[in-house]
Amino acid sequence: MSRLDATHDPARTSWVESANGHPQFPIQNLPLGIFSPPGGAPRPGVAIGDLILDLRAMAPLLSEVVAPALDSSTLNALFSLPSQARRDLRRAVSDMLSAEDRRAVIEPALHPAGDCVLRLPAAIGDYTDFYVGIHHATNVGRLFRPDNPLLPNYKWVPIGYHGRASSVRPSGEPVRRPIGQRKAPDSDVPTVGPTQRLDHELELGIWIGVGNPLGEPIAIADAGEHFVGLSLLNDWSARDFQAWEYQPLGPFLAKNFHTTVSPWVVTAEALTPFRIPQPSRPDGDPAPLDYLFDAADQAGGAFAIELEVLLTSQAMRAAGHAPIRLSAGPASNMYWTVAQILAHHTSNGCNLQPGDLLGTGTISGPESGARGSLLEITDGGAKPVALPTGEVRRFLEDGDELALVGVARLGEAVPIGFGACVARILPARG
Ligand code: CA
Repeated sequence: MSRLDATHDPARTSWVESANGHPQFPIQNLPLGIFSPPGGAPRPGVAIGDLILDLRAMAPLLSEVVAPALDSSTLNALFSLPSQARRDLRRAVSDMLSAEDRRAVIEPALHPAGDCVLRLPAAIGDYTDFYVGIHHATNVGRLFRPDNPLLPNYKWVPIGYHGRASSVRPSGEPVRRPIGQRKAPDSDVPTVGPTQRLDHELELGIWIGVGNPLGEPIAIADAGEHFVGLSLLNDWSARDFQAWEYQPLGPFLAKNFHTTVSPWVVTAEALTPFRIPQPSRPDGDPAPLDYLFDAADQAGGAFAIELEVLLTSQAMRAAGHAPIRLSAGPASNMYWTVAQILAHHTSNGCNLQPGDLLGTGTISGPESGARGSLLEITDGGAKPVALPTGEVRRFLEDGDELALVGVARLGEAVPIGFGACVARILPARG
C-alpha cells in the first residue's frame, strides 16, 4: 500500500513553471481526467499547474499496455488496467514533465486549462452512495428521529443505497431546482412544487478501477487494487422530498436529480503520502467483523484531506463579496475506510466495474464548524446562516453558488488539491 517513489519527492519540480508551488496541481499530483481542447474531441489528460497534458498525444511515448487505453473519450479502459499500469503511467508522465530535455517534445501537447472543457472522467455504470460520516449520521438522525439518532446497524454495516449514475455531472454544470412531492408537518396531504429545502452534501467520490466478477467478493486486503482514486462529490438533496419519501426504501427523488463531482481523479498513487491510520473507534463500539478488518487498512486506510464548503449568493457576487465558509473539517471523520466500503459492497458477490462511482456519504466533524450540509448547519432550518449582504440562508436559494474544496496535506509532502467542484442553482422549471 505504501509505495513512495521519485514521483512523490517533495524536491521534484516541473519545467511547467505554474506547477511549482501550485496549490492544486504540482507535479506530485498528476490527476487524471477527460478534457476537450479548443475545437477538439474529449480525450484523457493530466492536470499540471495551469495546463493540461494531452495523454493521447503522448501515447507513442508510453507503454504498449497503457497506450491503447488512451484512445478513448473516457478513462474506463485505463481504469480497467492493473494498478501497476497506472503507476507506470504516473512515473512516465512525472519524468516527462520534470526532465528539461523532454520539454521540446512534450510542450506541444500542453493546453491552457482555462481554454479547455472538463468532462466526467468515466462513463459511470453504477453509482452507490454510502453514509460513513458518523457525525453526519448522528446529526441527521437526531433531526429525523430525536430519540433514536443512530440505528443499531450503523456500527456494524457500512450503510449505503444505490444512486443514479445518469445524473452525475462535472463541476460547473448548473443544478436545476427539482420539483416533487413534499408534505408540511401541519398538513394532511402532500403538495407538488419546487423543493423549499435544497441542500448540499460534502462527500468524497471513490472511483473504481479493476472490477470483480459477479459472485466473487473483493477481499479487504485486495481493495487497493480496485481503487483508482478520489474526487470531491456534492450529493444535492431535497430535504422536504426526502423526509416524505425515505421510508421504507430509502432515498429516491430527493437525491437523484443531480450529483456534482470534481472532474479530476486524484489517484490512489498520488494520495499515498497522505495515508493516515483510521481513527480508533470509541470505547464500547464493536470491532469490525472479519471481512471488514485488515490490519494494514487500519494502519493506513484513512486520508489526510482537508475539506471546505464555500457559498456565494447572487447578491454577494453582485456586491463583490468573497464567498463565506459554511464548514471546514478533515476527511478522517469517516467511520469506515475506502477499503471497508469496497469489501462490504462486494461481500454478497455484487460486481463493481471500472468507472463505477461510490460516494462516501456526508463528511461532518463533531464541531459546529465542520458540518457538511445545511440541514445540520442550520439545525433543520431553525438557525439560519447570516450572509454579508444581510440575507440569511436556511437552505439554498436560486442563484446561490456552492463550492467544495479539498486539499491533501501531511508532513513534508507537497500538498495536492482536487480542483473545482462548483455549481450554481437555477430556478425550478416554470
Ligand atoms: Ca449523500
